[in-house]
Parts: sequence; structure tokens; C-alpha cells
Amino acid sequence: RIAYVNGQYVQHADAAVHIEDRGFQFADGVYEVCEVRAGMIVDLTRHLNRLDRSLSELRMAQPMSRAALTHVIREVLRRNHVKNGIFYMQVTRGAARRDHFFPAEGTPPTITITAKNTDPSVVAKKYANGIKVITLPENRWDRVDIKTVGLLPNVLAKQQARDAGAADAIYVDRNGIVMEGASSNVWIVTPQGELVTRPAEHGILRGITRTTVIDVAAKLGLKVVEREFKTEDMLNAREVFFSSATGICVPIVEIDGKTVANGHPGTISASIRDAFFDIAEKTAI
Ligand code: PMP
Repeated sequence: RIAYVNGQYVQHADAAVHIEDRGFQFADGVYEVCEVRAGMIVDLTRHLNRLDRSLSELRMAQPMSRAALTHVIREVLRRNHVKNGIFYMQVTRGAARRDHFFPAEGTPPTITITAKNTDPSVVAKKYANGIKVITLPENRWDRVDIKTVGLLPNVLAKQQARDAGAADAIYVDRNGIVMEGASSNVWIVTPQGELVTRPAEHGILRGITRTTVIDVAAKLGLKVVEREFKTEDMLNAREVFFSSATGICVPIVEIDGKTVANGHPGTISASIRDAFFDIAEKTAI
């Protein structure tokens, strides 16, 4: 496997950054994960737009032009022979002697890109029967709209889920409002047949898949409503599912040990998943 590190293509096993990288010391960095299907990068423009936004919210410079970045992404995918899989890209505020203040003007950012192959049929099989989740109190900072590498709460939430025999965790705020999953956005289909997801203005990451699911739903003639909902609304829903770049639409069949609907994945999430790649933006490698 080949990785890209600050201008070089290197063996993945040898890829390294400095111990005083601010990503390592302060989680002072941002990232994106993008899906690749049938030799096409999915929703690249939206992912690059969100990367730009994350960088500017943290007052970090763009590591390179969009054209150059797109070239490097393609090169990493090609060198790893990725036709189906993901790439991961991370930008940090660079390496500098440890000090909370921003490093001196002109300190180069650290940029790394890795890619790996995944088998779509294995992923499909993994989620075919839906997943179990637990709910947890929201305990993250209030800028989760920025896609930073500061994911310690998410790490702890996912592990807590695993320890409880579940696959993932959903954050719920102190008023009982559902926020998002530990690495995904949450959707319900109400008993009335509305497709609902919470507004993304604050409190959650605006998922790229979430945005594209809205497009897909419109094409399928499904009504999407952006409004808050509670845990009990999930338990009373016809369907509950996650959206994320890696899982697309993942059905949730059990929440805190309680069965959702009839305990089987629903048809709406299946139809969205089936139509997703036709409607998403596709960029050839
Ligand atoms: N929320 C969180 C906290 C996430 O980590 C992710 C996945 N990166 C998402 C939502 C879904 O975003 P996307 O659809 O862009 O993968």
C-alpha cells in the first residue's frame, strides 16, 4: 500500500509524521473520508467543499489548490488500485515546538492521504439485517459541525456500544433530542411516512451523505422534513437508519435493547440505498 505524506508517495508501512505534529499533540487538524465505487469517487465536490469549510473555521490555510489535491487523491487511488473502497485525507496545522498558540506564519500544514480497498458485497452483508445501537448523553464540544480529528468522545461512545453488544451509539442531548451517531447522521421514517432528519445548522456534522440522501429522496418523490425528534420517535418509527459515506444507509433495528418496528430493515432506506450511486456525483479516478 502507498500513502501520500507532505508531497511524497511512500510505502504505507513507512508513512510517518513528526512527533510534534499538532494533529498528534492537540488534535489540531481536520479530515475527510470519501467512498469510491466502481472506479468513481462519490461526492468529491461536496467533500472538498466541507474540507475547505473545516479549514477556514479553524483558521487553517488550504494545503494546496483544489486541482492539485484532486490530482494527489487520484494518484493515491491509482497507486493502490482502488476501484471500490475509501480514501482518508487529513490536514493538520503542521509540526512545531509544542505550544498551544498557532505556530509561526508559514509553518507548512501536514497533509496525509491513505486509501484502501473494500468489498461492497461484504459491507452489504454486514448491514443486511440491520444493526443494534445504544443511546448516550451528548458529551462533545459545540463545534461538531467542524470535521476535526478530535474524536475521543466518539471513540469512547463506539467502544461503549461494542461493550454493550451493540454496533454503534447515538448521541441524545439533555432535552432528549437525538443529535447524530458517533460517525453518522440519523434518519427516521415516521408512522405517517415522512422521512425526517434533524436540522444541521448546529449540534451535528452536516454529513455529505445526508445532503445526497435529501437529493435521492427528492428524485424518489419522498418527502424530507428537517426537524428535531426524540428517542421515543425512533422507537415509534417505521424505520430508523444511519447515513454516512462508508455505510450509505445503514438500517437500525434495535435501540437500547428495544426493537424498532418489526425488527427488520425497512423498504424506504433500501430504496434510497439502491438509488444512491445513480444520483450522487461521480468523479472518475
Ligand atoms: N456525523 C459524524 C460525527 C461523523 O463522523 C460522520 C462521518 N464522517 C457523519 C456524521 C456522516 O458524514 P458523511 O455522510 O459525510 O460521511
